[in-house]
Amino acid sequence: MSDVEETRMGNNAIVWFTNNLRVKDNNALQDAIEKNSKVLGVYFFDPRHFKKTKYGFKKTEKFRAKFLIETLKDLQRNLRLLNIPLLVIHGKPEEHFNDIILTYNIRHIYHLNEWTQEEASVLEHCKSNTPKKVKWNTYYDQFLFHPEDIPFEIKEMPKVFTTFRKKIEKHTSIRTERYSVGFLTDNFLKVDTRIPTLQDLGYEAFEVDSRTAFPFSGGETDALQRLYHYIWKTQQIRTYKETRNGLIGLEYSSKFSAWLANGSLSPKTIYHHVEAYEKNHGSNSSTYWLKFELLWRDFFKYISLKHGNDIFKLEGILGKHYSWEDDQKKIEQWIKGQTNEPFVNANMNEIANTGWMSNRGRQNVASYFSKHLHLDWRIGAAYFESMLIDYDVHSNYGNWLYVAGVGNDPRDRVFNIQLQAKNYDPDNEFQNLWLENVISL
Ligand code: FAD
Repeated sequence: MSDVEETRMGNNAIVWFTNNLRVKDNNALQDAIEKNSKVLGVYFFDPRHFKKTKYGFKKTEKFRAKFLIETLKDLQRNLRLLNIPLLVIHGKPEEHFNDIILTYNIRHIYHLNEWTQEEASVLEHCKSNTPKKVKWNTYYDQFLFHPEDIPFEIKEMPKVFTTFRKKIEKHTSIRTERYSVGFLTDNFLKVDTRIPTLQDLGYEAFEVDSRTAFPFSGGETDALQRLYHYIWKTQQIRTYKETRNGLIGLEYSSKFSAWLANGSLSPKTIYHHVEAYEKNHGSNSSTYWLKFELLWRDFFKYISLKHGNDIFKLEGILGKHYSWEDDQKKIEQWIKGQTNEPFVNANMNEIANTGWMSNRGRQNVASYFSKHLHLDWRIGAAYFESMLIDYDVHSNYGNWLYVAGVGNDPRDRVFNIQLQAKNYDPDNEFQNLWLENVISL
């Protein structure tokens, strides 16, 4: 039988995978399986994601590209267990959708809702090009608290995190996870597809830096292993609040962010594991704090839902004007770890060599960039976008806005970098790891 198959019992569907690269707790996938007779997974390596942006950085650097390739390989294996083939295309979605729809006689497309500028415009382009008979089914699978369940209209969303958190915690419960149901016995036959290599995407193969705090691989399987390790096996979650500002090694924080960012781990899965852990072993301020941090993640998603493109503007969502610079020499010194602040330099060397930086490091280097050097914060954000393994548009731009004083922090804080280094790296251990010549203070 050829791949162009006739519909027998009902409809044929596509699950368009974007930042929902998992099988577990994936409503788009589960609905597609339950409501259609044949299901095809589709993923696009969109060439726009691997090009240079206007600030001169590649939109995706090699660290995230590698993690993404690993994620796709794992997704392909996990879908195979459900008898669902994954079609991987190196091209723009809007240029390929119609061909796929015709070839596989598709009636339904299941996909994650995206609202930020670039993603939304690709989505619109695809939707407007496809035949009318095709129905698009949209999901908010990236949230912990579903937008339909929150106790306020998006436009009324509180500006300040604490108000947002209190309202949500009081009035909203988290939906249960959706488990994988059903193996499709009579699906499309295997499709002819190939996941690109790093070289195909324009990168050279590289060795992972042995000092990295994020030595993990992409994919749902590794995400769930890390979840099990962090919560159940080693129970690091019991001391999370005390260790979360750490700088060195694997265990100071959960390291869930990269899997959360591309959707190979569901925030609901983490949440329900934490609750199960609390039931079995008791809760403490650390177990709560992990849920608290996941709320920050949702907060920034709601901020971008509410404010749209303002999150990318220099004056941010506050509409606040400062005098910003774009001094190339200072930008380069920051990137290369050659500023006057060894603590900033160590963190910048870490991200350049690994694609990872701790939350404490991110706060400091972003504050130094925007509040000490007064450089256009969007350039710093674009560098992070390029380098971070865990880049997430909402968390990245939301945090940068916040630190730069044009977001949700009414206090407009400036970090004292030397004091931060003294408090969080008192013995220079972190700086020794990432700098060649450290001068002891
Ligand atoms: P943990 O401390 O274990 O926290 C658990 C989870 O809570 C994280 O995985 C993350 O999903 C969420 N979380 C924790 N802190 C924050 C926060 N401040 N904002 C939003 N969510 C949070 N995080 C990203 O996932 N992607 C980004 O692109 C990103 N860019 C950032 C840029 C700047 C300037 C700053 C200051 C922070 C940024 N963060 C970003 C937030 C935070 O630094 C990372 O989520 C965190 O360091 C990831 O490590 P972890 O998973 O071990 O976090």
